Amino acid sequence: MTEYPTQEISSCTACRLHKTRQNAVPGRGSLDAEILLLGEAPGREEDAKGEPFVGRAGRLLENIISQVSPGKWQYWIDNVLHCRPPSNDIRKVPDCELTCKQLWLQRGIDSLPNLKVIVCLGLTASSIWFPNLKSHEVIGMCRAVDGKVVIAAPHPAYMFRPGGGEWVKTEIATALELANKLCMDQRLWQQRSSTLRPLALTTQ
Ligand code: SF4
Repeated sequence: MTEYPTQEISSCTACRLHKTRQNAVPGRGSLDAEILLLGEAPGREEDAKGEPFVGRAGRLLENIISQVSPGKWQYWIDNVLHCRPPSNDIRKVPDCELTCKQLWLQRGIDSLPNLKVIVCLGLTASSIWFPNLKSHEVIGMCRAVDGKVVIAAPHPAYMFRPGGGEWVKTEIATALELANKLCMDQRLWQQRSSTLRPLALTTQ
């Protein structure tokens, strides 16, 4: 059983972002989780606290989670990049994104023994499993990968950008509802774990 590499990420110096960060930001949550929520990169508040999704977008996400699943819901939350990029712009550091992904992504996934569903929050995470789709095309897609289902949703930070709005909350909530259903219903799981298809079809 692989352990989540919290300490190794916290002390990682494998790319130049270690020079500008306050803190590296490993994942957090329950290592027994069936659902992984995978975002893009830490922002200012995450960098200051060393925890993912603790800023405005994180609070929105927690709010959506509590609405979709008011009871106890276990998940693990993480980012593709573990140190804050300059100006919060991951496009400026493609080499760091690649290094971080190669070093830590699979180890993180392998450290979640009960993992069934990966919900990608934003294009950076989605493009790992849906490499040829643009942002507006990928939202709402899902596919099976290595015995898990991957679902693409918008990043909660989109809510606060031009063009954002209630649709962002709705898409994330829809993805989380499907993730919950997939974890609870083995029959649905078997039906859905075969191929790439629009999320709209999977929720019928
Ligand atoms: S971004 Fe990733 S690879 Fe780069 S220093 Fe931070 S943890 Fe290491």
